[in-house]
Amino acid sequence: MTKSDLIIDGKSFAARLLETVSVEAFEFRDQHGHAPGLAVILVGQDAASQVYVSTKMKKAEAAGIKSYPYFLESTSSEEEILSLICKLNSDPLVHGILVQLPLPPEIDERLITTAIDPAKDVDGFHPVNVGMLSQGHPKLVPCTPLGCLLLLKDRLGDLAGKKAVIVGRSNIVGKPMASLLLNENCTVTIVHSRSRNLRYECSKADILVVAVGRPRFISSNYIKPGAVVIDVGINRIDDDSGKQLVGDVDYASALSVAGAITPVPGGVGPMTVVCLMKNTLIAAKSLAAAIDN
Ligand code: NDP
Repeated sequence: MTKSDLIIDGKSFAARLLETVSVEAFEFRDQHGHAPGLAVILVGQDAASQVYVSTKMKKAEAAGIKSYPYFLESTSSEEEILSLICKLNSDPLVHGILVQLPLPPEIDERLITTAIDPAKDVDGFHPVNVGMLSQGHPKLVPCTPLGCLLLLKDRLGDLAGKKAVIVGRSNIVGKPMASLLLNENCTVTIVHSRSRNLRYECSKADILVVAVGRPRFISSNYIKPGAVVIDVGINRIDDDSGKQLVGDVDYASALSVAGAITPVPGGVGPMTVVCLMKNTLIAAKSLAAAIDN
């Protein structure tokens, strides 16, 4: 096996997935007279959030999905944001609603994300969607773990019986990843900052998903030989080699042990935004089916 066989190329996979989504999005438009619609709400001028929103809108266009951007002042009140969400919840041309996080500190994030109609919650953060996933009936699933799952299934096929260890327990990545892998009949362990014997736990994993937010935190001695490693981390660092983007896994050392690994960049990152388009399409189809019935 060559070194390149070990690399899980999320960028290429995401490009193929985008192609499939766009074919179905154009079919949807032909059937219903309008494209699937995605409303993106950005509150304030956070530079990183502006880049993320612009990437999402470009990807939406490439996928045949119409985006409806809403740029609100950082001084916007909870009432203003809630009233916009209420309007979008009943807009028949909008099938997905995304509020770019983080929101300004004085805004209650939970209140805002919970106001989104669960049927349009393309980020999958609404308690109804979290509950559906955890009960084993996923509808709209958070985009990053969904992207990780697609990469894992593509590489490994059936995941049943595999031991999966997830480092990190955030609501956005770690917890939904655990639910998804449990639904695939993996034996799942979640470890976090208060876990004991982190290295031992990781070294037992057939599948190791790392979402910690610490550059190169997991090195080869945490990895079982042949394990499939999914590195969710995105860390901007400035070291001897200059400014660069690195994951939560020490890629160079992990490559000598792992059976397969996602690079950073070019691994999970490109999957996240395409899964948002996939979710918008799923939402559009299921809202249209509900109207037809
Ligand atoms: P959070 O900060 O919300 O969660 C980090 C998790 O890591 C927490 O559960 C925390 O434990 C755990 N952790 C922190 N330090 C340690 C430690 N020393 N040992 C074990 N566990 C530890 O981060 P996110 O889940 O939102 O994101 C994680 C990474 O993924 C970040 O780099 C982020 O940029 C990236 N990311 C990438 C995306 C993509 O599209 N590729 C999308 C989303 C995130 P505890 O709960 O105990 O504090």
